[in-house]
Amino acid sequence: MSNRVAIYPGSFDPPTFGHLDLIHRASRIFPKLVVAVATNNEKTCLFTVPERTEMLRAITQDLPTVEIDSFKGLTTEFARKCGAVAIVRGLRAISDFEFEHGMAVTNQKLNPEVDTVCLMPSEPYLFLSSRVVKEVARLGGDVSHSVPPIVLEHLLRRLAE
Ligand code: ADP
Repeated sequence: MSNRVAIYPGSFDPPTFGHLDLIHRASRIFPKLVVAVATNNEKTCLFTVPERTEMLRAITQDLPTVEIDSFKGLTTEFARKCGAVAIVRGLRAISDFEFEHGMAVTNQKLNPEVDTVCLMPSEPYLFLSSRVVKEVARLGGDVSHSVPPIVLEHLLRRLAE
């Protein structure tokens, strides 16, 4: 049981306190957690994959069982490569459910050996998303309560370019 690996895939563009909350929760359940930046939709992202992995590394440096990686292609193939037994995803509101359910069923067909485990964030992060953080920051709003300081630095620098 001690080698149960889980992967937590996502865009993380940029990582928020919501993502970090889920990373903490998942790392209490699984002995090893691989947080992986999915590189499929790079074009629409504000940050490059190396920038996103760098931010994730910085905000998880106090978590020795968490590894940061990136991958291209099917999440289920990446899970197989990692020897993962679970794919961690987040459920905020009911509106996340339909999408996550569809993905979970699809991934189950692609790799029946891996299960999707959905975790709920704590209340302050229920309405937090990378998209909203970027929108608010672009308009000059304060997002310091939504992202870790190192992410805030990256965000403000990128938006000032
Ligand atoms: P994706 O493009 O794969 O949805 P995201 O980076 O937006 O990537 O999210 C990755 C995962 O983290 C998704 O399962 C999403 O529901 C979850 N997530 C994002 N923000 C939060 C949050 N505030 N609380 C809980 N889960 C979240």
